Amino acid sequence: MNAPNLAELATSSQSEVARQMSICNACRYCEGLCAVFPAMELRRVFSGGDTDYLANLCHNCGACYYDCQYAPPHDFKVDVPNAMARLREETYERYAWPAFARPLFQRNGLWVALALAVSVALFLIGFVVASDPASLFAAGTEPGAFYRIMPHNAMVALFGSVFLFGLFAIFMSLRSFWMASATGPVTLRGLWEATRAAATMRYLDGGGMGCMNESEKPTDRRRLWHHFTFYGFLLCFASTSTGTLFHYGLDWQAPYPWWTPVKVFGVLGGIGIVVGPIGLMMSRKQRDPELRESTTGLGAAFLWMLLLLGVTGLILTGLRHTSAMGLLLAIHLGVVFAFFATMPYGKFMHGFYRFLALVKYAHETGLSHGAEKSGDAAAQRG
Ligand code: SF4
Ligand code: SF4
Repeated sequence: MNAPNLAELATSSQSEVARQMSICNACRYCEGLCAVFPAMELRRVFSGGDTDYLANLCHNCGACYYDCQYAPPHDFKVDVPNAMARLREETYERYAWPAFARPLFQRNGLWVALALAVSVALFLIGFVVASDPASLFAAGTEPGAFYRIMPHNAMVALFGSVFLFGLFAIFMSLRSFWMASATGPVTLRGLWEATRAAATMRYLDGGGMGCMNESEKPTDRRRLWHHFTFYGFLLCFASTSTGTLFHYGLDWQAPYPWWTPVKVFGVLGGIGIVVGPIGLMMSRKQRDPELRESTTGLGAAFLWMLLLLGVTGLILTGLRHTSAMGLLLAIHLGVVFAFFATMPYGKFMHGFYRFLALVKYAHETGLSHGAEKSGDAAAQRG
C-alpha cells in the first residue's frame, strides 16, 4: 500500500480522501462501480488536486459504502461516499471567485439569496409605484405588457450584467479547479465522453444496480430527480434564448402565446425545476443517515432558489392575464436576479466541476488504454 502524499494535502478532508484511496488502491474490490476507482488506480500517491478531482468524479451513489468490508465499525473506517462528499463541498468554496465572496455564502447562502430576491422585487415594485402606480395592477397579455413594470433596456442592463458577472465568476472558478486538479489538454474525445456520461448520469447507477438511498436496496429515483432538474434547467435556458431571438430577430415582444417555443420550453422547464428539486429534497430526507451529505447554506440555497424560480415562473404564466401580473412579474424577476447572483457560489457549480472531472477522466483513461497497449501503463501513474 502506498502512503498518501501528505505534504501536498492542504486540508483534513483531502488527507482523509487520500488515506481512504490508499486503502482502496490496495483492495480494488469496487473498481467496476464507477469512474472514481479506475481513476484512483492510475495513481500511487494523491496530491490535493487529485483528491479534489476524485471527489468531484464521485456521484455519491453509495454503492461502495454498502460493498465495503472495511466500512465502520472496522478500524480502517473506510466511508468513501462521505469522505468525497465532505471534500466536494469544500471545493465549491476553495475555487470560488472572487475570494472575498466565499465566507459570505458559506453559511448564509439561502438567506443571502432570499434577501436579494426580496430586495430586487421591492425595488421593482417601488420603481413602478413611483413612476406609474396604475400599471402595477393592470392586467394585460398584449406584446410589451411586461415592460410596463420595467423597460426592456433597463431589464437587459440589470439582468444582463448580473448574468455576465455570474458567467465570468463561473469561468474563473472552473479555471482554478482545472489548473489545480487537471493536467493535459481538453480534447474533443474527452468532451464527447464527458457529455455522454453527464447527460445520462452514468455514474449515479452504482455500477448498474442503481443508487442507494433509503437502504441497501438500489433504486434509480435520485437519477430521475437529477434528470428533471438538469433538463428542466436546460429547457428554461432554451426558453430565455428563444425569447431573446423573438425580441431581436422577429421584433416580437413578451409575453408570448402558449403555443410558441418560448412558452412550451418555459412551462416544461418550469415543471422540471419544480419536480426535480422537490424529489431531490425528499430523497435527501429519506436517505440513510450514513450517506446523507452535510448541506451548508451553499447546497441548500441552490435547490430552494431553483424551486422558487420554477414556482414563480409557472404562477406568472398561469395568472399573467389577471391584475396580479405586475406583482408576480416583480417577484419572479427578483428570484431570477438572486439566482444569477448566487449561481457561482452554490451547488450549481457541482455540475460544472463534475463535468470537468469527467473530461479529465475520459482523457486520462484514453491515455492509459493506449499506454497499456504499448506496455507502458506505468508511465501514466504517479
Ligand atoms: S470501498 Fe472498501 S471494498 Fe471498495 S475498494 Fe475501497 S476498501 Fe475496497
Ligand atoms: S460514485 Fe458511488 S461507488 Fe463511486 S465512489 Fe462515489 S459513492 Fe462510491
